[in-house]
Amino acid sequence: MEHPLNSGVRLVSPPARLMYRIFGRANPRGWADYHSAPERRGTLWVHCHGPARRGGANLEFIGVPTALRAAALQLMFALVAEMRAGRRFRADEDFAAPLSSKRQSFMQIGTLRATAWSDRDHAGMLRVVDYREPLQSGFPLRLFASHIAARATLAEDPARKEALCRKSLAVFAGDFTDLADAIGVDGSDADLTELQNRCNLLGYTGLAEALCAQNRHSEACGIIVDAIARCPGWARGYREQLLASGAPENLYTRFWHDADIAEIATRRQPDTAPAPTRSAAPRPAGNGGFGSRAPDPYDELLKRG
Ligand SMILES: [Zn+2]
Repeated sequence: MEHPLNSGVRLVSPPARLMYRIFGRANPRGWADYHSAPERRGTLWVHCHGPARRGGANLEFIGVPTALRAAALQLMFALVAEMRAGRRFRADEDFAAPLSSKRQSFMQIGTLRATAWSDRDHAGMLRVVDYREPLQSGFPLRLFASHIAARATLAEDPARKEALCRKSLAVFAGDFTDLADAIGVDGSDADLTELQNRCNLLGYTGLAEALCAQNRHSEACGIIVDAIARCPGWARGYREQLLASGAPENLYTRFWHDADIAEIATRRQPDTAPAPTRSAAPRPAGNGGFGSRAPDPYDELLKRG
């Protein structure tokens, strides 16, 4: 698909890219040409040119809400960096890497799909989609939600952290799952990568943490109920850890002490049950909010700016 090439589309101008290539070789801006082209629905097609000439792959995200343009660029830089570090990206292969922060405790996972662009500039491009999703699934909301949640862990200001976690949950509210089999009673076997990808766990725990840091313990309890409902297997392990950690007693820790996890999981079920004809494969989207794959799931986010 062709697109106009102007300063609004080019995320790094050619002279600036040349500067980075010569004087800032560690800067990902010099490693590829990054384009952000408007799509018909008001979303963005963010992609890069260049890596394919050096044995890598040109990558794209489609359906990027304009509010997430910066996040798309950060993720694109991280993926191009992976290729520079020697990782081979091929169609129909999955990737797992810590893309958003050196301190993140989980891997981001996703899958690459071959696109069908026929024009010379974009032929052969690989689309980044959510883990094991098809080409047509479009915007990888789990990946972006994970990115924003991982960046939130770096925020020192609780209000900033709160805003980022809320943004992450607006992108993907998380599926309801029970990975109880994968999680030991002490939480030690919890696969955070999987919990994050399925439930956006870090979005919830980060938000609860940020609220507690602002002495808003009651709000934190309200938020963590949503996390417990989505992954009760995690909650059972986490409670053991929290109560053994000697955390100061407050409304939030008392809530964890008294919480009836099984009851919460039974009471707070998905708003809408999946239609019986749907495939049993993991659904791409969560329940409610941005999780749905309605014709244009980004309207609300765009409204929020
Ligand atoms: Zn392009």
